[in-house]
Amino acid sequence: MSNDSLNDKGQVSSTLWRYCPQCASQSISVTEGKALQCGDCGFLYFHNVAAAAGVLIRCGDQFLFAERAKQPSLGMLDLPGGFVDADESLEQGLCRELNEELGLALKPDALTYLGSMHNRYLYAEVEYCTVDAIFSLTLADKPNLVAKDDISAFQWLTRQQAASVRFAFPAVEQAVARWVLSAK
Ligand SMILES: [Zn+2]
Repeated sequence: MSNDSLNDKGQVSSTLWRYCPQCASQSISVTEGKALQCGDCGFLYFHNVAAAAGVLIRCGDQFLFAERAKQPSLGMLDLPGGFVDADESLEQGLCRELNEELGLALKPDALTYLGSMHNRYLYAEVEYCTVDAIFSLTLADKPNLVAKDDISAFQWLTRQQAASVRFAFPAVEQAVARWVLSAK
């Protein structure tokens, strides 16, 4: 059921699964708040934190934001970026996402790490805890961008404009407050 996969503390709930995927037993219990274990066959699954990366792209006095084409937070502004795939570094995952979403070709070493935020992400009725690494990139000129894949549009906003936007996730609000609204 939606919103029932994690409790307020981000601990996994035994209601995430009704049956063990290995033996179909209904004796599922939660171990250490982050794993589901089957009492009959011992099958153990960790609902681990997922890694994601986003970027604050600055050109002059404007910052680039992406409008989400999908739930959660459909239509709201987010940072370009997304989940890191298997066998990718944060920078590699972010460069792949920027290419998929905006047609922006970057090398991983163009990115400067700023810090990270924890976040929650509800997708297909399963809630995940994520940790979002935030990078920065300063461009001398605005590149030619095409919104595609997970984003429907993009906007360049000044700090003053960004100050009145309600962003897609609390983690983005925090990143904007820390690295855009207080930017020199
Ligand atoms: Zn089982």
